[in-house]
Amino acid sequence: MEIYDGTGEFENGLFYVDTLAHGMKSSIGVLGYRNGAESVIFDSGMPNSAHRILASLKKLGIGHESIRHVLLTHRHIDHAGSASVMLEYLPNSFIGIHPFSAKQLAEPFKIYEGGKVLFGEYATPMRPVQASSIRALRDGEEILVGQDVVKAIYTPGHTSDHIAYHIPSKKALFCGDVIGAFAAQIKKVWPACMYPSFDYQKYETSMERIRSLDLTFIAFPHFGVAIGKDAKKVLDQSLATHKALERIVIENTGKLDGARLVQEVKIVLNEATAIFPESVRERAAEFMARGFIEGIRTQTS
Ligand SMILES: [Zn+2]
Repeated sequence: MEIYDGTGEFENGLFYVDTLAHGMKSSIGVLGYRNGAESVIFDSGMPNSAHRILASLKKLGIGHESIRHVLLTHRHIDHAGSASVMLEYLPNSFIGIHPFSAKQLAEPFKIYEGGKVLFGEYATPMRPVQASSIRALRDGEEILVGQDVVKAIYTPGHTSDHIAYHIPSKKALFCGDVIGAFAAQIKKVWPACMYPSFDYQKYETSMERIRSLDLTFIAFPHFGVAIGKDAKKVLDQSLATHKALERIVIENTGKLDGARLVQEVKIVLNEATAIFPESVRERAAEFMARGFIEGIRTQTS
C-alpha cells in the first residue's frame, strides 16, 4: 500500500487538499474530483477553512464555476463546517447530505454547539445553508460529474447520517469517518468512535459494504489516501483495532466501575488523538472512550 498525504493531484482527476485546520498539518483533508468541465468536492472542513480549500483547488485547476456539488459525509463540524461559506463562492453548486441532517444544515446551531463541546475555541460559528441549496441524497443515488457519476453509499456507524462516496470509474472511495482515522505514516487505522453517535454493529455492517467495492484509492478526511490493490487492508486494520478495544471492554466490564473503564479505554486511544490540537486531545480521548463503550452496549443490549 502506498500513501498520499500532501496537497495535489494524486491521480488523474483526483485531488487531495490538506485544509491545515487548527493551524496543523495532517488533521483534516478534503477530496476533489474533476471530470471534463465539472467537479465536486467531498466535505468542507471546519467553518473557517472555506477560503483555503477553494484557493488550493483553484491553484490545482478546479475553478469555482466548475464545482457542482459539495458532498458531505456527515454533519460533524469538521466535515460540514464550511458548507455555507463555500456556497457563497460557488454559484453552480449544491450541498449534498443525508436526509437525516438536511434540517440541521439549514439551522446549524446544534452542529456548532456539538463542535464546541469537542473542539473548544477551535470551533467557530456556522452559517445556515439555504434549504433550496441542499440536496438530500438517497442510498445509492448517483451524482453526475461531467460524463461520470459519484455514488452515495449509506455507511452508518460513526454517525447515523454517514455517507461514503464511491467513484466506480476511479475505483476510489472518500470514506468519511466510518472506517476510522488513518495514521498514514504508520499505516494504522484508529477507531473514530465518538460519543454519543457511535454504533458498533452498524460500523461492522458498513465495513462489509465497503469491502464489497472494487477499490484502489481510499481517501480519509483524517488523514491521507491509501493507494494500491491492497488499499482495502485499511479495513482489516480498522477491524483489528476495534476488536482489541472490544476485548478490553468485555474483560473489564463488571470488574471496573464506569469511570475506571473509560480510563482504561482512553489509554489505548491516546495515540488516536494525534489529529486533534494539543489542548483538545484529552477531551477527544474521553469522547472516543465513552463512545466506544456505549457503542458496544447498544449492540449487546
Ligand atoms: Zn465525525
